[in-house]
Amino acid sequence: MKTPIPEYLDEICRNARRDTSGSPAEYIPELANVDPEKTALALCTPAGKVYSTGDDEHLFTLQSASKPFIYAIALRDRGIDAIDDIIDVEPSGERFNDISVDPDNGRPRNPMINMGAITAHTLIGDPSMTPQERVDYAIACLSDFAGRDLDVNVKLRDSELTGRYRNLALAAMARSNNYITVEPEDAVWGYTTQCATQVTVRDLAVMAMTLANGGKNPITGKEVIPRQVCRRVLSVMATCGMYDAAGDWLTSAGLPAKSGVSGCIFGALPGQVGLSAFSPRLDEVGHSVRGIDMLEQCSQSMDLHL
Ligand code: GLN
Repeated sequence: MKTPIPEYLDEICRNARRDTSGSPAEYIPELANVDPEKTALALCTPAGKVYSTGDDEHLFTLQSASKPFIYAIALRDRGIDAIDDIIDVEPSGERFNDISVDPDNGRPRNPMINMGAITAHTLIGDPSMTPQERVDYAIACLSDFAGRDLDVNVKLRDSELTGRYRNLALAAMARSNNYITVEPEDAVWGYTTQCATQVTVRDLAVMAMTLANGGKNPITGKEVIPRQVCRRVLSVMATCGMYDAAGDWLTSAGLPAKSGVSGCIFGALPGQVGLSAFSPRLDEVGHSVRGIDMLEQCSQSMDLHL
């Protein structure tokens, strides 16, 4: 007899809790203070049924897990060709905050590393938006993916902004090449706020399933992004979502995924499942140790490999 889903998830989460290696991100002061034992796992089906286990009501910030969704909105709002002229889709094989540009023209390498993601944030909505309007719009769009109203952890955002200078340098470089046309300070403020949007592991599983569902939220039924945009975003997640570990990840787990430095990770397998995991201790690349373990266990036992 097959194990029922809740017990199956419980077991994966219990196994993952044994691993105490890694440590929470320290470069964002507020992130260094989190309880490193928090661990949660969730799964959303195409019919919108969500199963979860562990600390599944704990709120954490999306951080880089926000990047694919905001890139999707930029593609939807401005068109794929227009965005391709500004942000490339080549894997960088580098760390998330490296200066990673096309040497010929300075174009950001891809939308999953910080330079491309900060640029993508400036390309959502209407070009005439104020920074505050753009942020409100970003949170509303992320909420559409989650199927409920999300909010921002302002304390964490402000804590990250105290150390914003590297991201500011990336934004200034993109600005100097005219890929960003707003003030770099505004771009980094907006992007950092977007990263501080807080969700539970259940929200993130629904967001993942929306991507796995051709862009339609499985709970609200809202078509958040068109199917061809969705396909593009999943391809870029597969090649660039896990930064310099993207190759390892795609060979081992075999599904498009994106992680965030808060300790979250999600994976989306088209037509099948949205998965999400959370635990703050990170490996050297910056991925959640237990999160990677849980998603790999799910992928192997459910035979999710592409
Ligand atoms: N907000 C973080 C940053 O820009 C996101 C990084 C991440 O999650 N890898 O540094």
